[in-house]
Amino acid sequence: PLVLGIETSCDETGVGLVRGHTLLADAVASSVDEHARFGGVVPEVASRAHLEAMVPTIERACETAGVRLHDVDAIAVTSGPGLAGALMVGVAAAKALAIGLGKPIYGVNHLAAHVAVDQLEHGPLPEPCLAMLVSGGHSSLLRVTDVTIGVDPLGATIDDAAGEAFDKVARLLGLPFPGGPHIDRAAREGDSVYVDFPRGLTSRRDLERHRFDFSFSGLKTAVARWVEARERSGEPVPVNDVAASFQEAVCDVLTRKAIDAAQTQGIEDILIGGGVAANSRLRAMAEERAAAKGIRVRVPRPGLCTDNGAMVAALGAEMVSRGRTPSALDHPADSSLPVTEVLV
Ligand code: ATP
Ligand code: MG
Ligand code: FE
Repeated sequence: PLVLGIETSCDETGVGLVRGHTLLADAVASSVDEHARFGGVVPEVASRAHLEAMVPTIERACETAGVRLHDVDAIAVTSGPGLAGALMVGVAAAKALAIGLGKPIYGVNHLAAHVAVDQLEHGPLPEPCLAMLVSGGHSSLLRVTDVTIGVDPLGATIDDAAGEAFDKVARLLGLPFPGGPHIDRAAREGDSVYVDFPRGLTSRRDLERHRFDFSFSGLKTAVARWVEARERSGEPVPVNDVAASFQEAVCDVLTRKAIDAAQTQGIEDILIGGGVAANSRLRAMAEERAAAKGIRVRVPRPGLCTDNGAMVAALGAEMVSRGRTPSALDHPADSSLPVTEVLV
């Protein structure tokens, strides 16, 4: 089946076209530049940008794929979680298409879509698998038994998300928003053992209660203190070294806990998704550490890790092929949709 997927949960207007496991088009319009001067995504600005970008992005996806809207067999859309106003634009557009074309609509969970997208690159998902989702708004470890119905949280961040930490630390270091890619680049020229930053929730006591949870706010504060102390002393801040040391701390905790979770669950496949999965050090470290334990790691290419419409179409295609019942045409967008609810 040919499935069109729409993503508007944050600041990317994404429209993807997928046939089975084959990616035909992945058109993304981002309003990130409009948010940069605020140092974070401004909801109203994002909603308006989605409204303006929606139709052109749909047209661009159809053009790239060489299909007409009438060829589409089903519509999939991110129905949550995310920014309420932003989600509403995508859900309204998807409903309009579904009604106009007389095709079923699947309102899906954004987090499950971050997992499902990998099949566009590496084929059918290994199920069960341990999914680690790391983005600007989420950091969680999930047990995925069936990506269309069974996603169970094992742990999550108790404060900042990993991407949020990247963005905040980048700001401290004077790097532009969103900071992840800039830290990644700076870190390549830096010394990752220059500063021994804290690894959150890894002490024996913390592990008792938070074995599969993350905490990044203490790390961010530690970087802030370190940078302030340097500035007070009048010495220049070695941006590349601090970036590398910070990145090492994040990747160390993420990979350690993901592997521990997989081993505890008796799962041999780890799948990493979300914007932070684009991080080059995280990819390399996960690969290396997992291999040492006989665990396979799958990470989609960076362009499919950040928010896009193809991931939504990929999950929609799976809903169709596994015979799931479509969503109601009047289903609402749900900004706090729990990860366990894969299909609305
Ligand atoms: P959600 O959390 O709902 O998925 P989001 O907009 O944060 O929404 P993504 O587009 O998946 O979702 O992720 C964006 C985040 O990923 C930003 O915080 C950004 O800094 C981070 N990021 C992107 N590339 C990299 C990278 N190479 N290294 C580290 N972080 C990165
Ligand atoms: Mg984004
Ligand atoms: Fe996302």
